[in-house]
Amino acid sequence: MEVVLQNVTKIFPSRDKKSGQEVVAVNNFDFTIPDGKLVGLLGPSGCGKSTTLYMISGLQKLSSGKIFFGEDDVTELSPENRGVGLVFQNYALYPHMTVRQNIMFPLQNFKGKDKLSKEEILKRTEEAAKLVQIDELLDRKPSELSGGQQQRVAIARALVKLPRILLLDEPLSNLDARLRLQTREEIRRIQRETKITTIFVTHDQEEAMSISDMIVVMKLGVIQQIGAPQDVYDSPANLFVAKFLGTPPINVFNGKISGGKLYIGEEAVLDVVGAEDQNVYVGVRPEGFIVDNNGPLTLNLSSVEVMGRDASIVSTSDASANPTIRSIIDSDIKVDKDAKTVKFSLKKNKVFLFKADTEERIYCEVK
Ligand code: ADP
Ligand code: MG
Repeated sequence: MEVVLQNVTKIFPSRDKKSGQEVVAVNNFDFTIPDGKLVGLLGPSGCGKSTTLYMISGLQKLSSGKIFFGEDDVTELSPENRGVGLVFQNYALYPHMTVRQNIMFPLQNFKGKDKLSKEEILKRTEEAAKLVQIDELLDRKPSELSGGQQQRVAIARALVKLPRILLLDEPLSNLDARLRLQTREEIRRIQRETKITTIFVTHDQEEAMSISDMIVVMKLGVIQQIGAPQDVYDSPANLFVAKFLGTPPINVFNGKISGGKLYIGEEAVLDVVGAEDQNVYVGVRPEGFIVDNNGPLTLNLSSVEVMGRDASIVSTSDASANPTIRSIIDSDIKVDKDAKTVKFSLKKNKVFLFKADTEERIYCEVK
């Protein structure tokens, strides 16, 4: 089921009577989520991810705009009638019910022509439990399950209704690191098997990048960029997106374009074609540095951390916008740890230029 969001906006009235400042939680969100895809809604806390999800589910009313599921205008439809499955961060299972009773609960509320027979309810419950691989645990109470298992029950409970759309709001946040990895792979598998259009909200870029067909990066209620995870990583639209994706994060320098050359500090590091002379932010991905004694960029060496396959060179520079610069290189490459400085050349496809004032990307050729 395709989900169309047309200029969706949510304004919350002020909580603070004095300032009277209303909150624009979601600002003109305009995007079509393709049928059968898993879309990651990504951004820092407070950027409007949950509000967007709740408007899709019907739990929050829109201030303006429209939402369609396929051809259906669902903007005014109540949550029960939208056919969405919703999974939250805290699993919110009923503690006094068994796993089976928890999963079948939504089906028992079906009325009229949708009413299901006892056998049908039990069959669908078993199928949903199998899909999330908890069919062995159906007679347990939630307190007898691990966090990961509880979250699977919550997912089964959302799936048992055969929803048109599956909405997941930070579903992995309460799990420990290992379970988080495992459960996110599970969600990917379940989504592939069921082909239900799924929207997955997270503030964790790695999580979103690893399982999404597409990511939508948000900041202060506004979409910053939409695309396949690798495309967004390889071509960020602005400095915010560049900084939000990638671990270790992108390194940012104060630089300038002058006479067809890109300068970091006093050093001309690359040639630039198709951009006016101006001050810029220079973003360099950690993997964009090549240790090169004849390279144009000189950084002050702080430390070299060897971590198996890779080595991480930590350095400083007056031109850096951050206290330290982190470059990732192959651990076979020898770096003199006692040297005061280290020289680099840069991989041009790992270097992005941004306007110093608006922080928007400058699309130009670097050579
Ligand atoms: P996220 O899920 O990305 O962390 P939210 O969608 O929860 O962000 O919130 C977006 C913004 O809207 C925040 O500034 C938040 O404080 C505000 N907000 C969320 N819900 C309400 C509400 N019920 N009343 C007033 N402001 C709200
Ligand atoms: Mg949230």
